[in-house]
Amino acid sequence: MPQSKKKPMLKKAAAPAKKVAPKKSAAPASKAAPKKEEVKIPAKKQFQLVRGMKDVLPRDQWYWKAMYDKSQQLAIDYGFDRIETPVLEEAALFMRSVGKQSDIVEKEMYVFEDRDQEKVALRPEATASVVRAYLQHGMWNQPQPVKLWYWGPMFRHERPQSGRQRQFTQVGFEIIGDASPVIDAQIIQMAYLFYTELKIPVNVQINSIGMPEDRTRYKMELVQFYRSHRGEICETCKVRLMKNPMRVLDCKEPQCQPIKTAAPQIVDYLSNESRDHFMKVLEYLDELNVPYFLDHTLVRGLDYYTKTVFEIVTTDGEQGSQTALCGGGRYDLLVEEMGGKPVPACGTAPGLERALIQLRERQIDVPGAPAPQVYVAQLGDLSRRKAMLLFTRLRAEGILADQDFCKNSLKSQLESANGKKIPFAMVIGQKEVQEGTVIIRDMDSGVQETVDFNKAPQILKRKLGLDSAAV
Ligand code: AMP
Repeated sequence: MPQSKKKPMLKKAAAPAKKVAPKKSAAPASKAAPKKEEVKIPAKKQFQLVRGMKDVLPRDQWYWKAMYDKSQQLAIDYGFDRIETPVLEEAALFMRSVGKQSDIVEKEMYVFEDRDQEKVALRPEATASVVRAYLQHGMWNQPQPVKLWYWGPMFRHERPQSGRQRQFTQVGFEIIGDASPVIDAQIIQMAYLFYTELKIPVNVQINSIGMPEDRTRYKMELVQFYRSHRGEICETCKVRLMKNPMRVLDCKEPQCQPIKTAAPQIVDYLSNESRDHFMKVLEYLDELNVPYFLDHTLVRGLDYYTKTVFEIVTTDGEQGSQTALCGGGRYDLLVEEMGGKPVPACGTAPGLERALIQLRERQIDVPGAPAPQVYVAQLGDLSRRKAMLLFTRLRAEGILADQDFCKNSLKSQLESANGKKIPFAMVIGQKEVQEGTVIIRDMDSGVQETVDFNKAPQILKRKLGLDSAAV
């Protein structure tokens, strides 16, 4: 039976190849081979970072690890699964989700045609990608809500300054498939705990922007109000008033502040359902002791938000979205917008570079590299070989050893051990090689003991209090 089935399958596979081949070669030459952009490569040049990009140097790595560990712990504690989506997505994904009129899509997105003339974008944020993945992998079939977290680079072509880069990193927590205000409160609590448990003092700024129906009436009132003050507002507000009226509330220009303060407030235009939802979120936050400030001018720059929106700022920092450490909110219509069934959702994305600045400026202690327990010193080539073997054995025993096997002077090796305050040194010289021994030196007292090479790791373990068994 397999034989008789195999033959027609082979024939079928071969057939389209023959038909397709001539079509491809018949394509116009210009389409088949897109023109290559000339890149001038200077003869000799010290290359620099592309503007807005940053290296993460060794001095900051322990901060990054502390932030990653905190994120992972929160994800585990609150029952989130990890997801990773690519940095490159179809450009239309973000135009549809974040919004064509948003600053991100209009001015900041890295969009380009790839070699197949596909319009692609470096992701400016990852909520849209997570929703794409939720739909593409049929996660609506799983028990709801689906809780996903991610960590990775985002790209926005903004004007670089402290805390604002063109490549930056976000950790995100998204809960898809539940409309309850419990979800909003938990997401806000997680973001709040991320900072406070890292010892960064923060405030939550919160608002509700309702559903689109609530906003229609509000926008009309807002536009009318601003028009009556047309002579007093800045040029950007005039443009926003026409394109995306609620963004006037984001304005930082001093001349617009009195008008912003006196403007109608969205909370007065919320439906009963949106208002009840908001009240419940606030009640849960009260219960959880998450402090918050109501901010009726908080609207966020992304189109997909509905109902709850929030930002997190430092308690002593300037307030407003420029200095926000983190943003988030509910997006009940996004899954449907992107081709799924109506599925409510909520999420947050702490930005890590801004958290890093806080950790550094506040000189917050984070766990660093573990201190070496022993220094392995050697004298001469033969002893170096034995010392390298000893180092390997110590490592296998779980003992953290330090060494400078490329150095020759015993004095400088012991100075190095002293400088690093390593409690013990193990020394192998010519004599020890001959005798199959090692000297264990207590660096504090200077007391030395010569022990058998093969037993040395166990003896050291006992001295370190790691192994109480008799040797
Ligand atoms: P958003 O996705 O705009 O809600 O931003 C969420 C958080 O990401 C912000 O509060 C910042 O911490 C961080 N963030 C956004 N844009 C940048 C940027 N250009 N550079 C550094 N961090 C950023």
